[in-house]
Amino acid sequence: MGSSQSALGTSIKKAVVGDKDLYALPGNPLYAIKDVKLYNLSIPVKPAAVTYPKTAQQVAAIIKCAVDAGLKVQARCGGHSYANYCLGGVNGAVVIDMKHFQKFSMDNETFRAIAGAGSLLGDLTKRMHNAGGRAMAHGTCPQVGLGGHATIGGLGPSSRLWGTALDHIEEIEIVLADSSIKRASATQNPDIFWAVKGAGASFGVVTEFVLRTEKEAGEAVHFSYSFTVGTYASMAVIFKAWQKFVSNRKLTRKFASEAIITAVGLIISGTYFGSKKEYDALEMDDKFPGHQKGKTIVFRDWLGLVAHWGEEIGLLLGGGLSAPLYTKSMTFNGCDLIPDNVIDTLFSYLDTVEKGTLIWFIIFDLAGGAVNDIAQGATAYAHRDALFYLQSYAVGVGKVPDKTKEFLRGVNSLLVKGTPGGDQFGAYAGYVDPELPNGPLAYWRTNLPRLEQIKSIVDPSDVFHNPQGVKPLAKAWKSAESLISSLTPSEDSCLTLWAIQYSTVLSRRYHPSGAHVVFRTSGVEAAIGFGASVLGIAGAGISVATTLIRFSVSYKCSTQKIEDPSSQVSLTATILTTVGNTIDSHQDYFKEDNFREKFGRVIERCKNDYEILEAAVQKAKGEVEKTESERWERKMTSWKKLFWALSSEKQMKGLQSSLEVSKTQVLMMQSAASLIVLQIIGRRREDENIDLAELKQKMGLLLRALRTAHYSGQKY
Ligand SMILES: Cc1cc2nc3c(=O)[nH]c(=O)nc-3n(C[C@H](O)[C@H](O)[C@H](O)COP(=O)(O)OP(=O)(O)OC[C@H]3O[C@@H](n4cnc5c(N)ncnc54)[C@H](O)[C@@H]3O)c2cc1C
Repeated sequence: MGSSQSALGTSIKKAVVGDKDLYALPGNPLYAIKDVKLYNLSIPVKPAAVTYPKTAQQVAAIIKCAVDAGLKVQARCGGHSYANYCLGGVNGAVVIDMKHFQKFSMDNETFRAIAGAGSLLGDLTKRMHNAGGRAMAHGTCPQVGLGGHATIGGLGPSSRLWGTALDHIEEIEIVLADSSIKRASATQNPDIFWAVKGAGASFGVVTEFVLRTEKEAGEAVHFSYSFTVGTYASMAVIFKAWQKFVSNRKLTRKFASEAIITAVGLIISGTYFGSKKEYDALEMDDKFPGHQKGKTIVFRDWLGLVAHWGEEIGLLLGGGLSAPLYTKSMTFNGCDLIPDNVIDTLFSYLDTVEKGTLIWFIIFDLAGGAVNDIAQGATAYAHRDALFYLQSYAVGVGKVPDKTKEFLRGVNSLLVKGTPGGDQFGAYAGYVDPELPNGPLAYWRTNLPRLEQIKSIVDPSDVFHNPQGVKPLAKAWKSAESLISSLTPSEDSCLTLWAIQYSTVLSRRYHPSGAHVVFRTSGVEAAIGFGASVLGIAGAGISVATTLIRFSVSYKCSTQKIEDPSSQVSLTATILTTVGNTIDSHQDYFKEDNFREKFGRVIERCKNDYEILEAAVQKAKGEVEKTESERWERKMTSWKKLFWALSSEKQMKGLQSSLEVSKTQVLMMQSAASLIVLQIIGRRREDENIDLAELKQKMGLLLRALRTAHYSGQKY
């Protein structure tokens, strides 16, 4: 044992008050088998220590030991990360295994459950069932851990009904990089709460979840249709029928399904949450004719149904068993389906390509429904537009052959290239694809900039690290800053816009030196003609924002709640201004796209929001001045005054969400506008040292999001 290793051992021993059962070091006998326990044997990772704390205070003390030793930290719950990210994903991390965090209780009035972050899904299901027949959405493998699942997504058969696992989180306890123990919810440390709902591993160690629960589903029908005879090419027609069926916008949320391609053929299976009679009315036999084996099982008990899902996934993926694995993933949205000719090509490819192993799966999981009721930016989880997810998975003997990797890479590349927008859909972080060229962007898409900003504040040294985690902003920040200074406004206004959006608008609230950059970018904005007059509404927005801020400050309680709408308003206004400028300075490019007209609708919406807010602020101010009674002053926070003026909190919330929609739409507009210009000037700047390729990729993502936003009224 080296001296630094021994120093780490000594400090960790102290952190767990000398209990030698609560930590293990590389020199320990059976360290690899008993403590490290690789899930994916193809990624041999050796942590510096594996710890088993019993309290949040011990978690905090262990984090401090790692930070003092300059080491990275990752929590482990179920240990089911495809790329061993719970072990750090690379050598030398300190692992915090959460197995002792098994607390469970249920509030019988609110039906909110408190669950320790070391709970496995199988145990959680039973605990919720025993506490009054309650349940929540989650995946099918009982050995997967709540800690890693609910902080990354958590998709399962009940997701179309109830959302993802993380949509059930109401509050958490988390230990941060500075060893502070914090509670986070929509109202307490909301940024941390937002980030943990989709990217938890990069932000801390969650020790406890407070979860909203559902009443267990009643009768349910499990179905499966197998196609095992003939070529894969002959099965393409069935996959097309499945895609057509699941993409029907009127498809009931009671219907969950997956299409699984394996070495023996194609299986269409799923669960219908309703009676057998209702299921029969779907006439599934007619939808998927020619199957060799069709099977339905009716479940009337929730535990039986969940156990059945567990058995199925156990048979398919081996449940909790370690093996040499190779995994890939991708998402598909409901606007751009896989074209029929691409499905034909895929299935013919399966007939001819060498696979190198018999154990491989390509699974298409239907999602949508309640998952997509939540706005894209409402949680860090960024696939609210996805209709189904692909995960492909191969197991090797000893190691995964290169041929197998080539085979699965081929599947993805065929689908990415063949599906409109396929290169923009991204991938679900729960189905880790370690080979993705830009993992964080694929996993968190349009939410990545905000995640990077929060990371810069709460974990600037990247203590909670894995190879595809969210990184602090420092690098991105520097490049945005140098980008700004390198631009000449007249020729590069679109890049300037992007830089402003990236470094200023989104960073203003989070980055410590935000003010400095705001000042600098304001200069740039002025240079390109900070003309709120282009769109008078932007000016109105800014003045509403200013009034709101003054209002909250002048009445002493500058509550977070007032700052939120005011920053929304000023954000929207700033972006409106920049879009207006772009359009006006590149009139020719936008003529064909009828951009002005489309933009008009967004402006109308913003105008409406601004007017309501302006009126409310004036009314609240008037009342404060009129009734300057001390009692009223003391009793009413500025927030209360404002929503009193708006009649109700409901109306205030409605306004806030309307502002959120406007802001998103305006951001999309800006991106679309910028993309058009970028494409033109990009040709000229390709050989210069600005990373245009990355910019274009980000712009492209946003543009696709605009299309999705266009369809946002239509749920899948
Ligand atoms: C057999 C199998 C079946 C699966 N089925 C599904 C499915 O049906 N639906 C689905 O959505 N996904 C599924 N997954 C993916 C699974 O949800 C993710 O791999 C998930 O991250 C695993 O969580 P874990 O706690 O078991 O893993 P771990 O390996 O322990 O953790 C995974 C990541 O989460 C972090 N983490 C763990 N605990 C905490 C914590 N307390 N605080 C902060 N970060 C933490 C770790 O540091 C690591 O980066 C499946 C995976 C496997 C292997």
